Amino acid sequence: MIRLREDNDILHFIQIEDAVEKDRLFQHARETCRQYYGDKIYFRGLIEFSSYCARNCSYCGLRASNRALARYRLTDEEILDCCAQGSALGYQTFVLQSGEDPHYTDERIVSIVSRIRRAFPQHAITLSLGEKSRESYEAFFRAGANRYLLRHETANEEHYRRLHPASMSLAARKQCLFTLKEIGYQVGAGFMVGSPFQTPEALLEDLRFLQELQPHMIGVGPFIPQSDTPLKAYPAGTLDMTLKMVALCRLIAPAALIPATTALGTISPFGREKGLAAGANVVMPNLSPKGVRKQYALYDNKICTGDEAAECRRCLENRLRVAGFTPDFSRGDHAEWNQESHSCKTAPICL
Ligand code: SF4
Repeated sequence: MIRLREDNDILHFIQIEDAVEKDRLFQHARETCRQYYGDKIYFRGLIEFSSYCARNCSYCGLRASNRALARYRLTDEEILDCCAQGSALGYQTFVLQSGEDPHYTDERIVSIVSRIRRAFPQHAITLSLGEKSRESYEAFFRAGANRYLLRHETANEEHYRRLHPASMSLAARKQCLFTLKEIGYQVGAGFMVGSPFQTPEALLEDLRFLQELQPHMIGVGPFIPQSDTPLKAYPAGTLDMTLKMVALCRLIAPAALIPATTALGTISPFGREKGLAAGANVVMPNLSPKGVRKQYALYDNKICTGDEAAECRRCLENRLRVAGFTPDFSRGDHAEWNQESHSCKTAPICL
């Protein structure tokens, strides 16, 4: 039995080095995941539609001050084409992600989401567009969006300040997450592992915040330096620590949907498979046009930027089967999600 009631219990597992004890943690996390989802691994189709961002987070290659990055924006038609291609490949969840790009006004996002909703009435639409007002989130929800990803990145105030510009605050970030939950989204929070200045106590705060928020999705990936950012000289987070945090997130929020991130696959050849063995249960292959993938340069050496969407799906599906998992292309809602009670709470026109 693994006890995580007291802070010291959690800190112990954050810091364990013993291989046997780590294996016990990973196995317990995988078994916990199996109780809710079996061995299914849910596939989400990721569409990175704009690499422009008005913010300046010091770890991120998309930051506004990065003049070295060639930027791109997809047209509405291109986004719809990505969805059509994804649907033809079997995906039933689209994840639309961008930097905080004011070029896409609320009206335009509403129009894009509405068009996707009309074309794919049964699919889940996930947005990951950063911090917006309650009104904006409500408008997107009414248009048919179901889920929203907004990683908090660190729940420690001082750490947050060291990674972000003065115009951003942890309080505002957290408020957005609670607002999204109130509106009725399935909400995803999450954080980087091994980011500069991170301490075990800061990771403990991340876990405590997740316990309080109880998000439906948790994105946990290693920090990877990007060569045109102020944090370029810092070392990447380790596979070992990321796996421990994936497992602890699973135990803190047992029914959460937790991706084995592309960043995990970037720091280790079998990082994603190891993440799944430690309690993750989602993968997010890329549906963005191949020609722009490299330009969504959140960090250096990102994998899977050269494959067509169909190749990505086939490759990952095979890898998961070999590792003993069952690829699943259904919507993959949170195990305790009640569609009836949430779908139209504030959204008379949603489907
Ligand atoms: S982390 Fe997000 S908000 Fe910050 S610079 Fe990157 S894309 Fe922009």
